[in-house]
Amino acid sequence: MKLFAIALFALVATASVRTQPAPAPAPVYVVLWFDEEDYILPQDDDATLRLAQLLTKLDVRATFKIVGEKARVLEQRRRTDVIAALKRHEIGYHSNTHSQQPTVAVYLQNAGWENGSAEFYRREMAGVRDIQRIFGVTPSCYGQPGSSWAPQTYPALRRMGIRMYLDEADHVGIDDQPFYSARLLNVFKMRSNLARMELAGGNSLPEGKARFTAAYEKLRAQGGGTISIYYHPSEWVHAEFWDGVNFSHGANPPRDQWKLPRTRPAAETETAFGDFEAYIQFIKTQPGVRFVTANEMTHLFEDQAGTHEFVKDDLVGIARKTQQEITFQRFDGYALSAADAFVLLTGAMASYLPKQQWPATIALTDVYGPAQGFSASVGGVRKSTKKSIWRRVCSGPPTRRPRFVIWLFTIAPFGTISVSPVRVWIAV
Ligand SMILES: [Zn+2]
Repeated sequence: MKLFAIALFALVATASVRTQPAPAPAPVYVVLWFDEEDYILPQDDDATLRLAQLLTKLDVRATFKIVGEKARVLEQRRRTDVIAALKRHEIGYHSNTHSQQPTVAVYLQNAGWENGSAEFYRREMAGVRDIQRIFGVTPSCYGQPGSSWAPQTYPALRRMGIRMYLDEADHVGIDDQPFYSARLLNVFKMRSNLARMELAGGNSLPEGKARFTAAYEKLRAQGGGTISIYYHPSEWVHAEFWDGVNFSHGANPPRDQWKLPRTRPAAETETAFGDFEAYIQFIKTQPGVRFVTANEMTHLFEDQAGTHEFVKDDLVGIARKTQQEITFQRFDGYALSAADAFVLLTGAMASYLPKQQWPATIALTDVYGPAQGFSASVGGVRKSTKKSIWRRVCSGPPTRRPRFVIWLFTIAPFGTISVSPVRVWIAV
């Protein structure tokens, strides 16, 4: 009987395996984006038009991150054809004036968190407003001009209604795949999953296909993932970057002294367009590939942490992981930053202590982490006096003013931030 039961189970199991449909191929998302930034070389407008129309013909929606000044220049040159062609795609933001000084990283280099974020908003919101006026949409994403990354941009971008950081540089990244930072979805530092075909003719196309295939096959084997591809429309027509010839090494010439970059021979431009069309068509034919825009990515990779209801078991798990290491934590469907863990655990504690009862659920609220840097106090610590003085600091008010000097040297190793005579006085 037992044997029969096993045999029957085996039969049923086999049958159920046989009747199951084949698993869907692991999706590979391809985000194709352009930095639309050259507001000096007029041929860039034509290259943009041709690219936007080509991609529409191929039924691929790309994301064009537009510089505020480029949008204004298109309007001034009355390139309504270019604006209309771009509107068929998704519109992102690429700063107000890009490489004119001071750039983002320069004007934020000595700024704090809150005043830096306010300064970025003040300087860059003008470009967002012009894009809203000219293109009729709020940009879906932002990417820094050049290497001008700064952390204070994140809260300001959210204030602007921008939901994604889309760029490629080495500043922040996790495992060459999309991630959340400061409540913004990031496609950034994609490295091995960046598949950019060169536009140099010759072997550009076969080498580009090989580079894409390497990333594609690796991601398929891992159960899917994201590939990032970026260009500047000006690359089809220029021989050197517009900002390189005008704003390198801190140069900031007035507008009437701006120089036009050198252009490519027409035949090279034609080859580059031909290769690019073949490259996009090749990608389209790969099983499981789906071209996505920045906005589509924010839906595909929606931040589940913001809507998750954290219960006691979640919180205990978070507390245990925090004890092992203060870093981000991954869970099924969402991830938490160290600051998220901090705000959840302190929220639970504040709720628990008065009634000795766990809250039914706790929701995550926005927190960015420490808003001020820590500056170590100058001077050293005399070990022999450290404990006794700390005890006195904690146990009662000082009796003589000169003790301030000693406390300044003493409190820092215990982690007090921004020790100053006034704060020490108040603290004790
Ligand atoms: Zn750029």
